[in-house]
Amino acid sequence: MAELDVDVLLLSVGPDLPYLTGYEAMPLERLTMLVLRRDGDAALVVPRLEAPRVTERPDLFEVVAWDETDDPVALVARRAGDAAVAAIGDRTWARFLVDLGASMPRTRFRKGSEVMGPLRAVKDDAEIRALRRAAVAADRVARQLQAGEIPLVGRTEADVSKDIGRRLVAEGHDHVNFAIVGSGPNAASPHHDATDRVIRANEVVLCDFGGTMRDGDVGYCSDITRCVWTGGVEPPPQFRDLYTVLHEAQQAAVDAATIGTPCEDVDGVARRIITDAGYGPQFFHRTGHGIGIEEHEDPYIVGGNCEPLTPGHAFSVEPGIYFAGKWGARLEDIVVASGAGPDALNTADHALVVVDA
Ligand code: ZN
Ligand code: ZN
Ligand code: ZN
Repeated sequence: MAELDVDVLLLSVGPDLPYLTGYEAMPLERLTMLVLRRDGDAALVVPRLEAPRVTERPDLFEVVAWDETDDPVALVARRAGDAAVAAIGDRTWARFLVDLGASMPRTRFRKGSEVMGPLRAVKDDAEIRALRRAAVAADRVARQLQAGEIPLVGRTEADVSKDIGRRLVAEGHDHVNFAIVGSGPNAASPHHDATDRVIRANEVVLCDFGGTMRDGDVGYCSDITRCVWTGGVEPPPQFRDLYTVLHEAQQAAVDAATIGTPCEDVDGVARRIITDAGYGPQFFHRTGHGIGIEEHEDPYIVGGNCEPLTPGHAFSVEPGIYFAGKWGARLEDIVVASGAGPDALNTADHALVVVDA
């Protein structure tokens, strides 16, 4: 905060608050807010009826419970003092920022992520262990998919999506964050919502799924993408070619994710291989995103992000090639940057597996 010239940090709903305190605010109209001043003074302003949920940490913060007839915005403004600069959590409801702005007219507000993003982006050993545990569990589901243990042909995408979700939980996740199932032409839509389309034999099924696995007070996320070809038949050569290029690009980008390499260079490695093979316009999203207690967080593996990778950065490497109306493919692993080289947490087969399912 001193480095960034921030006088007070204000955190409400979202993952920043549990990251610092172990307490997750209820996303409700009653304001919960951590007021953390640069001098270390910290108060968790919380509705009286939610105060019993707080695990008290007097060494870290004071609990300030407010009653139904109190004005929590005034309470926060008073605790914040005459801050010239406040960093407020990105997910804070706009209504509270509007009210705080009125109560703190001399304060300039900045995004909380300016303070919290760099802290959360660098994972310590315990966090890396938690990410690995989640990745290994997601890998087990990916292996079930590749072994043909998840029936595909004749089922709807929505059915398969629910099945994958159940398996994520069975393998130890506490909740499912998403389970994209894109079959045939739907594989060309990167964030496709699983639909009632019935999966056929002899087509691609792109599965991109992840969940959260609790680890102490907070949970860490998994995120993996694998594609399979259905019906036990060999895919057409054009798809094989596309996938070979994708596989090579993904592997090269993982290998390029060494300490000191700018994030945009990792993206560039994947993009160059795909572009050189003639698929440049078909790869229209960034190569990856950071991952931790959120599915998408800093650092982003994207052109224009010159931030160098440092030990503990955890992120996805997930290039894709998409032909609208026809088919598509993506290949995704979670990778941790480390002094010993890029540490790919996901190890499920990277090949395009033909399944008899
Ligand atoms: Zn995504
Ligand atoms: Zn994903
Ligand atoms: Zn991802």
